[in-house]
Amino acid sequence: MLLTITYKGSNSQDLGYLLHKNPSRPQEFVLNNGKAYVFYTEVSDESTTAALLLDIDPIDLARGKVGSAAGGLFDYVNDRPYVCSSFMSTAVSKVFGTAMSGRSKEKQELADAPLNLTAKIHMLSASNQNMISEIFEPMGYAVEVETFQNDDKFGDGGQSKYVNLTLTGTVRLRDLLNHLYVLIPVFDTQKHYYISSEEIDKLLAHGEGWLKEHPHREYIIGRYLNRRRSLINKALNRLTDEPEPDETERTEVKEKKPKLNQTRLSVVVDEVLACGAKSVIDMGCGEGNLTRLFIREKQLTKVAAFDVSFTALERAKDKLKIDKLHETLQNKLELFQSSLTYRDRRFEGFDCACVVEVIEHLDPSRLSAFARVLFEFSRPKTIVLTTPNIEYNVNYEYIKENTLRHGDHRFEWSRAQFTEWATEMCKKYGYRVQIKEIGDSDKENGTPTQMGVFTICG
Ligand code: SAH
Repeated sequence: MLLTITYKGSNSQDLGYLLHKNPSRPQEFVLNNGKAYVFYTEVSDESTTAALLLDIDPIDLARGKVGSAAGGLFDYVNDRPYVCSSFMSTAVSKVFGTAMSGRSKEKQELADAPLNLTAKIHMLSASNQNMISEIFEPMGYAVEVETFQNDDKFGDGGQSKYVNLTLTGTVRLRDLLNHLYVLIPVFDTQKHYYISSEEIDKLLAHGEGWLKEHPHREYIIGRYLNRRRSLINKALNRLTDEPEPDETERTEVKEKKPKLNQTRLSVVVDEVLACGAKSVIDMGCGEGNLTRLFIREKQLTKVAAFDVSFTALERAKDKLKIDKLHETLQNKLELFQSSLTYRDRRFEGFDCACVVEVIEHLDPSRLSAFARVLFEFSRPKTIVLTTPNIEYNVNYEYIKENTLRHGDHRFEWSRAQFTEWATEMCKKYGYRVQIKEIGDSDKENGTPTQMGVFTICG
């Protein structure tokens, strides 16, 4: 991967002084995951071009070389040696560190002056190409993007996510380098380093003087910090000088606040009681956390629970301490193994059925079978069904882009998708539905859990 920087002006060879790299001598630098080379492809009075070439070892990346931050993050066959990615940022700061700080022993005046500079980034990994101009143009650059078509023989004909990007502007060299340092990883989503709070310091240091005023600063910060919400908020607070909430205050709030899981279960219990049910079936009961709450409710005289997983049921039995339960409680509970995707007579005759955080574990191809079992054959008066709202996932630090909350989830629905499915079920099986939200609400993305309360018509 290659980055070139061209300075056009009188005595353009002075670029060598500014970069602290002698145009007549190619240099080699050892990095954690490979080598970097600096050499000049053109040196003249009018135009001088310095090139930074990275030679990344893909095998080291895959194996997880000792001391390498990127250890084991990548497959053996990866694009890293060939594309301009977060590795380039790291190399820029290692190789051109002094130039980035704006210091120059010999040519301080030139280092402080805006110069006619062009940066060409070869094979920038950019999953979000539409943002390239949006981001660089407000910073005063003329932007040229060369795009490529994927080869159809690989079956993914269409626009490649790699581009050659040329930026031309009248800027100080240090500004150009800092812009590249921050913005290359904004376009590359596969960063090779772990994003920790240290990255905030780096981001703010390299973003000084431009990031605060950038019209897309939130986008830049979000992508740079890999969408880790708590880090993004910290960075934004520091950037806008807003005081951060007191650490101790926050911990206290956290401890007092019930966990999402508890909130969800108690909301579900409230719904079941509110619909007047006397009997309830907990479908896909897992370890029986909801079942346990049900058997303690006087209003409920019959409680059934089942799960497809034998292990989950064993744990449920342990947790419910069935043997030690009072006889009346024991008598009202029935626990058995079954699957939601096959008709089972034992599901019939209940006032209410709960399907809490289960539907997303079903294979999409089995959803229609599940719908018949639930709405057509079991046919309780009320159904309380919950599932994650995928839009809210941006708030979870541990969830990477385009992944789901849990390894066993087959899908997660947006609010629109859930509403669409629920509406279709009502039409097909004669129910009406009320969609509700559970958990902390984020203005843009709603709540972490969505719930449908279905009531039979007629
Ligand atoms: N409802 C519980 C558990 C949710 S975890 C709670 O809220 O705590 C999802 C559960 O769905 C798992 O226990 C899993 O075994 C169960 N499950 C997955 N597919 C199922 C199926 N086809 N039939 C019944 N249960 C199923």
